Amino acid sequence: MKYLFAHWDSFKKKLDNKYIILFLDYDGTLTPIVNSPAQAVIPVKIKELLSRLSQNPGCKLAIISGRALGDIKKMVGLENIIYAGNHGLELEGPKIRFQSPIRPRFKAVLKQIKNDLTKKLSSIKGALIEDKGLSLSIHYRLVNKKKIALLKNILHKTIISYLARKRIKTKAGKMVLEITPPVKWDKGKVVLWLLARQRIFTAGKPFMPVYVGDDKTDEDAFKVLKDKGLAIFVGRPRKSHAGYYLKNTQETARFLKKILELNEK
Ligand SMILES: [Mg+2]
Repeated sequence: MKYLFAHWDSFKKKLDNKYIILFLDYDGTLTPIVNSPAQAVIPVKIKELLSRLSQNPGCKLAIISGRALGDIKKMVGLENIIYAGNHGLELEGPKIRFQSPIRPRFKAVLKQIKNDLTKKLSSIKGALIEDKGLSLSIHYRLVNKKKIALLKNILHKTIISYLARKRIKTKAGKMVLEITPPVKWDKGKVVLWLLARQRIFTAGKPFMPVYVGDDKTDEDAFKVLKDKGLAIFVGRPRKSHAGYYLKNTQETARFLKKILELNEK
């Protein structure tokens, strides 16, 4: 992985005369990771940059988050952006029609698991169950370190039979476990789905997809863009499918500003 600002000129060249399709993750990419998801308010500076980018004729923004669609739309609060929630299981944007790949029966399964976990995890202080409609997130950032093994054990016992019958899938993130529908759908698939429909916003212009993300679930998107786009990891460099990295969310802001400058000159 190359440090983006050390290779800015060659990166910039790849965007020359291209319409930019800019995919952005939210938590850990646009806002720092915080103790509880509700605290991850969008920084004013980032919102301002996104607002200007969303009105720029040279690019299209797509925010792809693990949060529920309604939640991510509320957190960002801007029009003329494509929003994908629940890692792309929900998607909405100007002129875009999307059919969710979820079966109705799944919601009953999720409700059952939520009820079970609510009871079983009630004794573990700091465990937080977030109901995202099409998925559940079990956050344990606030749980005492000594209790994490117990929490994981309870989680495992509660969901193992559903997992075995392929009623659900799980995804691990930063101090969070997600319970999701058993469909082959992820951030990479949603990127491909949007790229297959890029004419809606590029109007046939040559384009370059750029994806910025910080977590395991973003790797699916990094992977699909390997030979058709640019992928940027946010955080301490590690093994990743991304070709570039930025050190933190402040640097994401600096990056957005540079993209804006390219397009506004
Ligand atoms: Mg993230």
